[in-house]
Amino acid sequence: MELTQAFSIRPAKQSRIREVDFDHLEFGKYVADHMLVCDYGKGKWNTPEIIPFGDLTVSPTTLALHYGQTVFEGMKAFRMEDGRINIFRIHKHYERLTRSLDRMCMAIVPEEVFIEGLRQLIELDKAWVPAAPGTALYIRPFAFASEAKFGVKVSDEYKFIIFSGPVAGAFQKPLRVKVETGYARAARGGTGAAKCGGNYGGAYYPTQKAKEAGYDQVLWTDSHDHQYIEESGMMNALFVIDGKLVTPPLSDSILDGITRDSLLTLAGDLGIPVETRPVSLDELEKAFRQRLITEAFGAGTAAIVAPIGVIHSRGIDYQLPEYTPGAVMFRLKDKLEAIRTGKEQDKHNWNYVF
Ligand code: PMP
Repeated sequence: MELTQAFSIRPAKQSRIREVDFDHLEFGKYVADHMLVCDYGKGKWNTPEIIPFGDLTVSPTTLALHYGQTVFEGMKAFRMEDGRINIFRIHKHYERLTRSLDRMCMAIVPEEVFIEGLRQLIELDKAWVPAAPGTALYIRPFAFASEAKFGVKVSDEYKFIIFSGPVAGAFQKPLRVKVETGYARAARGGTGAAKCGGNYGGAYYPTQKAKEAGYDQVLWTDSHDHQYIEESGMMNALFVIDGKLVTPPLSDSILDGITRDSLLTLAGDLGIPVETRPVSLDELEKAFRQRLITEAFGAGTAAIVAPIGVIHSRGIDYQLPEYTPGAVMFRLKDKLEAIRTGKEQDKHNWNYVF
């Protein structure tokens, strides 16, 4: 598919960037000037358009609103030390989007629309990529079934959109998480490995229950017998047990997190032993009793790492030790940030720089 010259660009008449308080960036508060929109219908993708960010008009019969064919990605662009811009692991995000679309029976977005579209979009909005330590331009590509026709069916039409907005990295006080042994986020054979909207909608209710009980997030377990850890809220779950970085293996009920993958690779580079294997509640509780567990954390694009301070499992609040800057999770986070901003060599080719 030859698209390079085919992007249609209509720049905003006036930028809204002056409305942004870059010293107080809140996640989700500001949206950059432009968005990319690409429509699929009659078996093909139309010319992608980069236009001013604005509302969409949708029919009440739009299929995605009823039957949930909708997927998204979450990724970041960083301002490097030399002023250039880096979209982190763009190809891995594209591959995951493709897997999500495939799982939801949705039309696959062409690679060039994603990669070249993102580059052109962020080039146009490059003033929005913040430079302060810990900040980034969060990028939200998503697609939904746009055919307006009621009746349950796989849509014949889709809309693919990308917008972005500047965000800050917040200091995170260690989370209190509750191991969930009743509800499940994702089942074997289900859609847990896809980044589809329904996974998030379905997770709200148990999360609200955990919040009412005084916890910040749910530590999900497998849907079959609720014995094995799956994910932490909307992040992958990692532990340091007996000096080893331990995390559950990927499966059809766990999202293949790009942060998780990056941290595991960096741990290897730092000579930290990594074990990707099932983590049972029995093992975790025993590790607490024997004081072998020294760290627990979530990993995801938004927070990078989110330290866990308390794990509630089967009636008991287990306390993690206080974390120091030398904790494995912070060493990994620092290394990741150094690569993203160009302070350290990008030997894994993760940066898409322009
Ligand atoms: N698990 C779930 C359910 C998520 O929503 C996310 C955030 N995308 C992650 C894990 C972490 O993935 P990533 O590191 O790619 O952001």
